[in-house]
Parts: sequence; structure tokens; C-alpha cells
Amino acid sequence: MTSEVIKVNELKNTDPVFGQFSYDGHEQIVFCNDKDTGLKAIIGIHNTVLGPALGGTRMWQYNNEWEALNDVLRLSRGMTFKSAITGLNLGGGKAVIIGDAKTQKTPELMKRFGEFVHSLGGKYITAEDVGMETSDMDLVRDVTPYVTGISESRGGSGNPSPITAYGVFMGMKAAAKYKFGSDVLEEKNVLVQGIGHVGESLVEHLINEGAKVIISDINEERLQTVSKKYGASIYRGNDVYSEKVDIYAPCALGATINDETINKIQAKVIAGAANNQLAEEIKHGKILRDKGIVYAPDFLINAGGIINVYAELEGYGKTEIMRKTENIYNTTLKILNSADENNITTQQAALKVAQERIEIRKKENLNS
Ligand code: NAD
Repeated sequence: MTSEVIKVNELKNTDPVFGQFSYDGHEQIVFCNDKDTGLKAIIGIHNTVLGPALGGTRMWQYNNEWEALNDVLRLSRGMTFKSAITGLNLGGGKAVIIGDAKTQKTPELMKRFGEFVHSLGGKYITAEDVGMETSDMDLVRDVTPYVTGISESRGGSGNPSPITAYGVFMGMKAAAKYKFGSDVLEEKNVLVQGIGHVGESLVEHLINEGAKVIISDINEERLQTVSKKYGASIYRGNDVYSEKVDIYAPCALGATINDETINKIQAKVIAGAANNQLAEEIKHGKILRDKGIVYAPDFLINAGGIINVYAELEGYGKTEIMRKTENIYNTTLKILNSADENNITTQQAALKVAQERIEIRKKENLNS
């Protein structure tokens, strides 16, 4: 009898979609399947109050579909707040393709995915994320106009990662200003975890500024290449979080700030590109605040990429892209100060600004 009750409760707690831990009022979730190409994808549309839901496609070898679903739910929600806080007229969406991008991604699969995107009639607009290249977006463009991040030769804004890295660099400088009293990163020890598209570009900015950069990655080849190219040192220990550094820049995957890692973190500032760095945003945000670690909210400082692809929709050029991305410095400083003034976490302060913008627009939409 007892075990039956538990089973029913467990089922209740894990309703397949709307009962998921990461479900947060998402408007639409689309499951895409194509037997011929092997495509299995999920498109998550979190919120379209400010505009069409724009967000990248991630291809990853998830352990199971629950993981993929939770990832797309978390990532699409993050996009809503990212665009809102950046002042863009975009909603939040994201897509995940389940599979190994190195071995299972084919042109046919990408085009089939593009057809699913097209079937949503522009409510969701895609772009690159982990496991995707500009050339993949070009394939999607063959079957739908609802894609950004296509190559410059096809009228796109190209790879958004260098702009994302620049925005992260700006956010990091603002967080350093807030914590250390100066935004000069010269001589600061910075750990960059994940030196892929964004991480490498961030390393370049940091080295140019004279920071002492330590890099960590699961890909040994990348470590060698990036270390040689920029003179960054490679982390060789077995517990990266315990490393004594001034700044930790998570640039791999999300949720690296979690119950297991949070008490080991030695850095005084956390500022990186990875989406959803806090495994549990309220709990882990509070712990960081109590420990005096300044956390620059990820969705605020990694918005350079979306600013870059938004240019494709709005038709603005590089100067405006750089101006908007540079402004991440001012917004970050404002958010860090407002968290202090209101005695809330930096994540809560950033969410508040984003949510207020959405609420105002919602009322305007209702009245128009
Ligand atoms: P990428 O795939 O090019 O790079 C990720 C890197 O992280 C790879 O080198 C990979 O080997 C490494 N990695 C994976 N697991 C790791 C681990 N456990 N420890 C250390 N390294 C690990 O991806 P990217 O485009 O550079 O994006 C990085 C992060 O930034 C992602 O979370 C992405 O969602 C986020 N982001 C990217 C953009 C963009 O413009 N590309 C924009 C906003 C946010």
C-alpha cells in the first residue's frame, strides 16, 4: 500500500512535460522525430511576449530524453530573460538535438530539423549553440528563413561566438570593478573552463589585457592548441573548483555551480559564458552571496551572441552590435549594485529587471 502511494506521488512529481522540475510556464514544447535521418529533437518555446522566440540549437549526446527535455526547458527560459534584459524585442526559445554532433550530424538531418523549425511559422527562430557550426545554419537556411547565425556570404552575421566572448569580457570587467575596485584584469588569475568557440576568444581578450589565464577542458588537443597560441597555462590538477584564482569563467556546459562544487570555489568573481551556471538559482545564488563571491548572471553577460544574430533580423551593422555588446558592462554594474541595495542575489536582481520588462509589454499588448 505504502509503496503504491509513493509510486503515484513519484509519477505526480514527474509528469512527463508540465510536471518537470525545469518547466516554468513554457508556451509550447515540440517533439520532432524523423526516422529516415535519425533526427530526435525538442524545441522549447518559453515566452513570446516580446517577440518571436529566438535561441540556438544544441546537439548533445544526452544520457536520456529527460535530460534533453530539462536542458531545453532551462535553456529556453534563459533566452527569454536574456533578450528581455538586453532590451531586444525577442522571446525565449531553444532547441536540442539528441545525438553526437561529431558522428551523427548529417546535412539531411540538419535540413529535416530546419523543416520542423519552418513548420512553426516563425514563432521560433533558431541559431547556433554547442555542437553547431555556421555551416549547419546555412543548411537550415536552405529550407526555412527562420534561422540566424548564417554565414556572412549568405547575408548573415556569421559566427556569434567572438561577440559573445567580448560581452562576457565586458561583464567580467564590470564584476571586477564591483569586487576589486578596478576593472583592469592585468595580473588577475582567471580560470577559463571550456575553451571552445567562446572560451578561446575570451582567453585572447584576457591575455591581451595581461591577465594570468589558466585553461581547463576535456579536449586535450584544444588545450594544447589554445595554450600554445596564447600562452595560457593548462590546469593539470584533479579538482578545478578548488583552484585559487581571482575569477572563474565557466564556458563549458551549465550547472557547474552546484551542491558538490559551491563550497570549494575559491574565486571571488564568477563570470562566464555558459548558460544556466547555477544548478539551483535561488539556493546557489544565495550561497554565493553569503560567501562574498560576486556572480555576474550568465544570461546577462553572455548576450553578445544574441545581439549579433538579432542584427540579421533588424538590419543593424557591426558598430551597433559592438555598442550594444559593450553596454553589457554598464548593465552588469547596475545589476550588481541593485542586488546590493535590495539585499537580493545578483541573479534575482537581473531576473527582476527582465521580468518587469515582459510584464510591461504584456499589459501594452493587452491594451492595444
Ligand atoms: P563549444 O562547444 O564550442 O565549447 C565548449 C567547450 O567546453 C569544448 O571545448 C568542450 O570540450 C568543453 N567542455 C565540455 N565539457 C567540459 C568539462 N566538463 N570541463 C571542461 N571543458 C568541457 O561551445 P561554445 O559555443 O564555446 O559555448 C560555450 C558555452 O557558452 C555553452 O554553455 C553555450 O551554451 C554558451 N553560450 C554560447 C554562445 C555562443 O555564441 N556560442 C552564446 C551564449 C552562450
